Amino acid sequence: MIYSTPMKNKIRPKVIEDAIKRFEDRGQSGAHSPHGAILCHVLNHCIKNGISFRLSYLAGGGYGLQRLDLCNICHKIMDTGLLQDVNCGGDCTACMADAGDPDCINTMRAVKELDSTDEGGDFIETDE
Ligand SMILES: [Zn+2]
Repeated sequence: MIYSTPMKNKIRPKVIEDAIKRFEDRGQSGAHSPHGAILCHVLNHCIKNGISFRLSYLAGGGYGLQRLDLCNICHKIMDTGLLQDVNCGGDCTACMADAGDPDCINTMRAVKELDSTDEGGDFIETDE
């Protein structure tokens, strides 16, 4: 999917280049107007290059793009909002726990406890 850009606003290529560079450097864009052409250019950059992203409405107004990084170990998308896929310096919490990181092990214990108390989840009956 390629987003079209409004033709009435002719943007200098340097401005688009800078917006894409800022997104690449910081992993997130600045605040963009939903009607803004720059947002479309950054979106297209993500789609063309297979970059996973999240588009969010920002509290201060406008829309922002956040890059969703992949875990170096299991290659799943990180920072989706789940505790187990928080980005811990390039690897997700679940993989860091597998590698023996004490903080991540504690987080994964908490995740398992939350899962087991989730009323909608499956549970296993025991004889105890
Ligand atoms: Zn992982």
